[in-house]
Amino acid sequence: MRRSGWLVLALMGLSAEMARAADRDAVGPQGAAVAVQAELAFRAGGDFAAWQQALRRRLVAILALPSPPFVPLEATRQRESQTEGHTLDRIQFTSEPREVVPGYLLVPARGRPPFPVMICLQGHSPGMHISIGQANNEREKASIAGGRDIALQAVAHGWAALAIEQRAFGRRATPGVSCQDAALHALLWGRPLTGLRVLDVMRAVDFIATQADLDPRRIATMGNSMGGTVSFYAACVEPRIRLAVVSCSFCTFADSWLLRPHCACGYLPGILPVADMPDLAGLIAPRHLLIVAGKQDPLARFEGVEEGCRRAGQAFAAAGAGDRVALLAAEGGHQFYPDLAWPEINRVLKQWEAPISPGHRARVE
Ligand SMILES: [Zn+2]
Repeated sequence: MRRSGWLVLALMGLSAEMARAADRDAVGPQGAAVAVQAELAFRAGGDFAAWQQALRRRLVAILALPSPPFVPLEATRQRESQTEGHTLDRIQFTSEPREVVPGYLLVPARGRPPFPVMICLQGHSPGMHISIGQANNEREKASIAGGRDIALQAVAHGWAALAIEQRAFGRRATPGVSCQDAALHALLWGRPLTGLRVLDVMRAVDFIATQADLDPRRIATMGNSMGGTVSFYAACVEPRIRLAVVSCSFCTFADSWLLRPHCACGYLPGILPVADMPDLAGLIAPRHLLIVAGKQDPLARFEGVEEGCRRAGQAFAAAGAGDRVALLAAEGGHQFYPDLAWPEINRVLKQWEAPISPGHRARVE
């Protein structure tokens, strides 16, 4: 193509970008401009492994994740109840000094252990009991109706489900202190609340590895809204997570976090000059990423979700895994869409190798 042709294309791109910038007056120009110039944005043709390593290192620093060795888990597990379909245990483990993570572990009554495990994370809901379908009032019933009883869904599909309480939510909330306040307090310590939540997920993976009926080689995370956000970042930095199901929380930063008001508990200080969310998705490749979205989600422009998925797809393709990232979009708002997601989740599960026996695991570890 002649040079003038390139110029016309460049100007066309520029005018499109200017039109989009005008559409987000309230945001100002910094969002799109910074994202495009991000230092570690994915660029085709480079050394993929070196890029991934550099970006992961920077994300770990931004999340302010501590380095191993971690404190002993001091895990406990106690039977709570049993139904025809599954057992329900109360568990807890220590993620770091003075931080005990409570959770529910649901294990299918049928099938042979060790089971694949879905780590289930709620967003801004009343707490982890929503994941197991427990409603204490009409508002919680409505929350569950939005597809948020994800641990029950997982165990019905043959997965073990580990629903943990996230920091500053539910039983881990301090009375009178919102998660927004908790996030701002954590920033005074130089630790974004999202990073603290990601650390808990990493320790949940450690916990899974101590349980003989759970398969540490088939671990996934899922959640809607902030639960999806934490699922996403956890999968970016924790290679033992083989699938992230990220619902109503994946988009370009410009079309979501910079465009619409979000809670402070999900912001990462200093991320924009480093990478956009679609670039970070490349950290999950060649593992699996399923992006679930409501086209009318008020927290993200669907055009930004589509653009983000397209760009994530380029990074996955560079890793030889272009078919391992998918967008599942529904007509609807900010919720999870079980009927759309579970066939795809189970399609991924089928691709994973056959479960190993507990005896074999003891030998390989
Ligand atoms: Zn919050």
